[in-house]
Amino acid sequence: MQKNQVTIIGAGFSGLVTAFALVQKGLSVKIYEKESRAGGLIQTQNISWDPETHFPDETSGTLSFEKDQFYSAQAELQNTTHREKYIGSYETGANGILNCQALEFLCNEIKLNLFSVPKSGQKKYIFRQKIRRWPFFFWETLILLILLLRMFWKKSARPKEQESIKQWCERQFNLIFFNYLLDPILSGIYAGDGTKLSARLLFAKKRKKPQTLFPKKGMGEFVECLKNYLISKNVTFHFCQEWPPLSQNHEPTIVATSAPAASRLIQNVSPIVSQLINQIEMLPLVTAQCFYKEKKPPVTGFGCLFPRKENFQSLGVLFDSNLFPWRNSGVSERWILGGANNPDLIHWSDEKIILSLQKDRSRLYQKQKQNKDQSQTPPLKWEPKVESSIIKTHITRWHQALPHYTLQLESILNQIHDSKETLPQPTPSYFWMSSTHKLALIGNYWGGIGLSSILESSFDLADKIYLQWESHGP
Ligand SMILES: Cc1cc2nc3c(=O)[nH]c(=O)nc-3n(C[C@H](O)[C@H](O)[C@H](O)COP(=O)(O)OP(=O)(O)OC[C@H]3O[C@@H](n4cnc5c(N)ncnc54)[C@H](O)[C@@H]3O)c2cc1C
Repeated sequence: MQKNQVTIIGAGFSGLVTAFALVQKGLSVKIYEKESRAGGLIQTQNISWDPETHFPDETSGTLSFEKDQFYSAQAELQNTTHREKYIGSYETGANGILNCQALEFLCNEIKLNLFSVPKSGQKKYIFRQKIRRWPFFFWETLILLILLLRMFWKKSARPKEQESIKQWCERQFNLIFFNYLLDPILSGIYAGDGTKLSARLLFAKKRKKPQTLFPKKGMGEFVECLKNYLISKNVTFHFCQEWPPLSQNHEPTIVATSAPAASRLIQNVSPIVSQLINQIEMLPLVTAQCFYKEKKPPVTGFGCLFPRKENFQSLGVLFDSNLFPWRNSGVSERWILGGANNPDLIHWSDEKIILSLQKDRSRLYQKQKQNKDQSQTPPLKWEPKVESSIIKTHITRWHQALPHYTLQLESILNQIHDSKETLPQPTPSYFWMSSTHKLALIGNYWGGIGLSSILESSFDLADKIYLQWESHGP
């Protein structure tokens, strides 16, 4: 074994970016992955169909804003992958990443260009009786502004230990803001139950100006580019190799898997931590990519979230044809269902899932009667037009998609950090290092589901490993 060699288990986003950060420190890395590809939860799928029948109408002007971008990107894609037919693409998991300094550095190194949301995809909606850009009525907005101003001066506004998002919101604002703003947003991102989500864990890392960025051809391009860069830096990949539980005399290892897999892998070397991680609740999630005959998206914008109070089956929908108009012909949308509030949905048949999201879709785009008593907000300037005609649907079921960021997870992470198996402080709480073995854990259950959180954590982990493992010798 080389002195400065590290083994990483898992070639998902956590494993890849940790390998990148270690390579920057001059360490040599081997990655083991049980599947035949890198990326884990991230995967871009390409599909194709006859260009004669489903091609965007040039004269309609629907895509005129990005028409040049659309055709050049499409030509580029066709040259490299599918020659014979028109292709469309979609994400089964993550579709974008929030900007941060570490991301800028990584993209410069691996020579990957990321794009921000085009104009057509900037408006964000929440459903409250109808699709709305701002879910609140005038007087509610006024109260929110006053409460926000008051909070600005108060230190007690910070989330307390073991305080749920709902409790925190109730203490600071009032439940309307929980029901129609925080709960739908957090359910959309974390697929969790806002009554159980931990305010401390969710507000742990703050971003100055969050902006979502995408690679042109999808997140698969990010993975491919990073993998090729790592190979050029002599990182070795071993695919289709499921690593067994670690033994006492293992090599310096980083476990970069989901929580259940990490628990199994460390059961013999760190039993207490393994048992605690095993208690982390994992949420099931379903994504359904739908392609429609319509040539024009019913609304412009990023997507719409559905508050629980409105009784939709879906958590939300992303308007992919506005976000990535060059990736697909016609209209495509990505529906997200399941999560903590509907865990059994994952067992539904494809037909039942499609039927329920079709119901959600017609309600989302239904024409609203102008009833002044019903709403005090001005009516929308456009009228959504919808002909419901699905051409294709691709359903992805994630049985253990994401950790549930509950108060229970907050308490589990606290117990792990207090345990004697953990390297004493000052180790940040968003990864774990063993006190007795050259063993570290990183992944989306350590204080950040999002890719940019994982990326930032991986840079800190690499610093710590460099100091701890390298300076103390083999
Ligand atoms: C539907 C969905 C949408 C999302 N959208 C976004 C988004 O838009 N933006 C965002 O920032 N985040 C998003 N996320 C979250 C983000 O994608 C994940 O948090 C992140 O990809 C997790 O990466 P990971 O490497 O930690 O885990 P994983 O992707 O699960 O990777 C772990 C890898 O380890 C491998 N493995 C496990 N056990 C072993 C073993 N014993 N031996 C070898 N290999 C093993 C697995 O095969 C897998 O490849 C989304 C998640 C989902 C499910």
